[in-house]
Amino acid sequence: MKLAVPKEQGPGEQRVALVPGELARLPGIDVLVQRGAGEQALFGDDEYEAAGATVVASAEELYGSAELVVKVQPPTVEEADLLAEGASVLSLLVPTANLPAVRRLAERKATAFSFELVPRISRAQVMDALSSQATVAGYRAVLIAANRLSKFFPLFMTAAGTVAPARVLVMGAGVAGLQAIATARRLGAVVSAYDVRVAAKEEVKSLGATFLELSLEAQEGTGGYAGAQSEEFVARQQQLIGSHVAASDVVITTAAVPGRRAPVLVTEPMVAAMRPGSIIVDLAAATGGNCELTKDGEEVTFNGVHVLAAGELAATMPTHASMLFARNVSSFVKLLVKEGRLEPDFNDEIVSQSAVVVAGDVRNAAARAALEEAHT
Ligand code: NAD
Repeated sequence: MKLAVPKEQGPGEQRVALVPGELARLPGIDVLVQRGAGEQALFGDDEYEAAGATVVASAEELYGSAELVVKVQPPTVEEADLLAEGASVLSLLVPTANLPAVRRLAERKATAFSFELVPRISRAQVMDALSSQATVAGYRAVLIAANRLSKFFPLFMTAAGTVAPARVLVMGAGVAGLQAIATARRLGAVVSAYDVRVAAKEEVKSLGATFLELSLEAQEGTGGYAGAQSEEFVARQQQLIGSHVAASDVVITTAAVPGRRAPVLVTEPMVAAMRPGSIIVDLAAATGGNCELTKDGEEVTFNGVHVLAAGELAATMPTHASMLFARNVSSFVKLLVKEGRLEPDFNDEIVSQSAVVVAGDVRNAAARAALEEAHT
């Protein structure tokens, strides 16, 4: 079986889907790597070759000979065209946001697996690329804020005077939020956090942060995710959290609800009440933003408060982000391969739930509905 690792094409994307150290976990598989695929993540072609891979010069040759392509970013229409007919691809895919590529994959009789659709069960934790990349993003978000803030994070008692620690508020205490809390604590900030899920409270407290008690009912969804929230709920939350936002030097927002626009937690008047020089890092920028002023891909300054739209932060720390992603990839690939052959078992819930397209048939219900709607 031939597995291919292309060079990622997206702007700013520096990660690679498989790193040399992971090849030992895939015995019996011929790994082909596009020349320079790991370069930006600091994995050289020579390291891949030493680990047993074959380096291939062009994307055409690589895609054309692979049974399975593993990627970070969703395949583009052009990449789908390069696939050999009937080949498989494993990547982040966000099928409803990439309908043209899904359509083309179906036309190519391809099979496509999406990391976002891996169910959140214990057996699948090692394949959870959303979590591995959110860990990197939460960490980076705090470092970006600390770099931009014109103040120290820790308490300092010096001969030249005492400096109060920075106050950091983290909204959304999932994987990225918890990592942001831990990182801000390590830097010495006073950290508080809020989440709509009950389980988040103990996790926040165990990291030495204060959990904000907001007299709001919990909003639980399935699989550890938050549930959909009404406009009234979000409005009440905004009211209750306003004074905490105003008192913060740094606000990191990570709140998300699967399949929906990110809830607006920080409104313009709330930003106006913050001290000039304060920083908001919005990790939900790509799905609409948790701050009303967030502009995806841009930095906005309002009354001296800097609102930073965080893009794909994991891509900005490519070495470790790729190592973690590669473990997710190799673990998933092991599920797909039997005795050296690509034989996905669609009775396995991890395989079946993450399959968007199977041999040209669009199996994911949300993607199929979106394609039908786009067609009518
Ligand atoms: P996510 O990225 O979908 O959302 C981030 C956080 O935002 C969540 O904690 C969510 O509750 C919170 N949120 C949503 N609306 C909010 C609001 N109005 N105000 C404040 N917070 C709001 O979620 P995630 O980080 O990917 O995962 C959430 C949780 O799922 C994790 O903390 C973990 O407990 C669980 N999980 C389980 C597994 C597994 O079992 N395999 C894997 C990963 C995560």
